[in-house]
This record gives sequence, structure tokens and C-alpha cells, in this order.
Amino acid sequence: MNDNCCSQTSAGSEVCELPSTTVQRKSKPEIFCPKCNKKGKFVQGQTVKALLSVSLLSVQNTEYYFCRTQSCPVVYFNTDGESTFTTSQLRERVYQKEPNADDVFVCYCFKHSVAEICNASPEARVSMVNDINTGIQANKCACDLRNPQGSCCLGNIRGLMKQTEQAFIQS
Ligand SMILES: [Zn+2]
Repeated sequence: MNDNCCSQTSAGSEVCELPSTTVQRKSKPEIFCPKCNKKGKFVQGQTVKALLSVSLLSVQNTEYYFCRTQSCPVVYFNTDGESTFTTSQLRERVYQKEPNADDVFVCYCFKHSVAEICNASPEARVSMVNDINTGIQANKCACDLRNPQGSCCLGNIRGLMKQTEQAFIQS
């Protein structure tokens, strides 16, 4: 088993792959958030445990999923929907739930906030992405333990950068 979080970058993509390839995400059933009924994204148990601020006695020994719906307070829910954890039960604020909040992190490992990314010059953005990639390649990231979504932030970073560039062009 390769427990090296970010060494496996597939060609052309710098998105970091989480540890166990034993976790077969493709074969996971579609599980829907009991609150908003949107499809959840499978997260590893260690992500839930690392991100919760409440006693871990309340964590069930089942699989958990991440709800990315902005308006939904639920962050994690388990397969049967009996166990849920909301934003107020996490140690971190969740980017997907507050995408417009300046001080929420988009990159949790290297600490880049929404405002920092939005306000950065084009050059600063390039170097920010380069720094993140350098950190990933040096195995300095811990997305599964720091990022509430349990996976690499780069997709979100690029998405946000694109979004603000388009807003700038349109303004
Ligand atoms: Zn939800």
C-alpha cells in the first residue's frame, strides 16, 4: 500500500491522490445527503475524525460522505443517514459552505484563504499554484487530515481563480 499522499500525480494533472488505492471510490454506491438530498462524496474515516471538534465517540463505524452543498449545514453523513455532522461540529470552516467568506481557507495545508486568492495579482497566483505544487511534490500536504473534503485543494483553487478572472473581465 502506498501511504504517500501526493506522490501519485497522474500525467498532466497535479491533483493529489489520496493514500489507499484500496479505497475503490468508483465502486461506491451513490449516497445522498439526508438533509439536502444531493449526492455525497466519499471521505475516508481519518478525514472525519481529524476534522471533527466534537467527541469522536459519536462517530459511527460506517462509511462517511461529504456534502458540498453550500446552503446545507451537513458536512459529513454516513451511509444510512443516521449519523450527521454539521459545520458547527468541525474544527475548520468549510470552503464549500462559505465560498464567499474572505477568511476561509481554500488550501488548508499551505493556508491560502479566499481573499488571498481573489486579491492576488496574476503573477502571485502563478507562484501560489507553483508553491502548492512544490509542497505536494515534497509530500508536505495532508489533505486527508486538513481539508474537510478529504482531498486535494488544487481543483478548488483553480476554479476560484478562473471565477475571479471571469468576474474581472466582465466588470
Ligand atoms: Zn447536504
